[in-house]
Amino acid sequence: MESPTLAKPKESALRAAFPVLSRKVHGKPLVYLDNAATTLKPAAVLDAMDHYYRHGTANIHRGIHTLAEEATAAYEGARDRVAAFVRASSRGEILFTRGTTESINLVAQAWGRGALKPGDEILLTGMEHHANLVPWQLLRDATGAVLREIPVTEAGELDLGALPGLLGERTKLVAFPWVSNALGTVNPAAELVRLVRQHCGGKILVDGAQAVSHFPVDVGALDIDFLAFSGHKLYGPTGIGVLWGRESLLEAMPPWQGGGDMIKTVTFESASWNELPHKFEAGTPAIAEAIGLGAAVAFVEETGWETIRERENELRRYAEPLLGAVPGLRLLGAAGERAPVFSFNLPGVHPSDIGALLDTEGIAIRTGTHCTMPLHARFGLSASARASFAFYNTRHEADLLLQGLDKVLRLTR
Ligand code: PLP
Repeated sequence: MESPTLAKPKESALRAAFPVLSRKVHGKPLVYLDNAATTLKPAAVLDAMDHYYRHGTANIHRGIHTLAEEATAAYEGARDRVAAFVRASSRGEILFTRGTTESINLVAQAWGRGALKPGDEILLTGMEHHANLVPWQLLRDATGAVLREIPVTEAGELDLGALPGLLGERTKLVAFPWVSNALGTVNPAAELVRLVRQHCGGKILVDGAQAVSHFPVDVGALDIDFLAFSGHKLYGPTGIGVLWGRESLLEAMPPWQGGGDMIKTVTFESASWNELPHKFEAGTPAIAEAIGLGAAVAFVEETGWETIRERENELRRYAEPLLGAVPGLRLLGAAGERAPVFSFNLPGVHPSDIGALLDTEGIAIRTGTHCTMPLHARFGLSASARASFAFYNTRHEADLLLQGLDKVLRLTR
């Protein structure tokens, strides 16, 4: 909890932490509204990675020289920070991966291949990012399991009324995104977990890619089995992500990749496995990136959830009615609880044209399906434009987006 007596950090100081925010695009100050794709990186993250490469490059876990020991301490220190960040019960529950995608594939392969039989069911939602759909399709094809889907309502929320009817003794896994990357919908994770636990013994995986940058996470309190997320959506570098898994499950799962570091002993015929978390980290990992992620977590904690949440809620409340007032603009979803993520269409304008025209104004948004083709099909769309805010964005930038959309409408009319 932050002290209520602390002064609110100034907007300019918050923005000054992000070097990219001082650049211009097409002669205009950058307005970065593509945070759901990847967030910007604060100088603290860049400095931590630079320090490792400039002053202490070494491989980890292997050498006894000073640089190797320092690198190992920095890498494992980052794991400790992440463990505390999600309230893991032990550091062994934090596996470093390349990102959310790899974390989910790890569960699908290492847990799913042993756990699923033909006819077993995997329950997903109609708002999955492809990263939380295609790995399960591959697993279905390998095991004969069946995929089922929680439908999405017109408001862009999960139809919880349908859930009990979709759960049963064949349900072996339920996976859902905590926050939808296309709709911004914050799914009621605690309620979903309660219903799943009430109706079946299946495991629960939460895709936290869009959640961990918006609010604090406590995996124990949530009573889930796996949480996947990416460093680069949490102000950290690309190439690093996390799979948190319940220790008893990780202990029981076989490794999914073989190589150095994940073994205890090796003979020519066979091998035995290292303890957690190393059993799941074969080969030289992304050392600088893990250190960068540790710095990103420290940065978020120093900035404080109160500041992040207050600013993002304010931006959402400010931008939503502004967008709603643009003539003909169709906003995807209208969930009561949402992150500051807005996917939309303008009548008669292709989303790529919206993106290209806004770029000439220095405004960066995302266009396409945002890796959610089934969700777009659900709304009868082949693409949309998406503006996604982070705490360092400003009301003025929301105004510039509106002016940009106005220009798009004038130029394409
Ligand atoms: N899940 C969600 C909800 C996402 O938004 C994303 C990325 O956009 C992913 C999964 C995949 O993340 P990554 O590409 O970092 O593995």
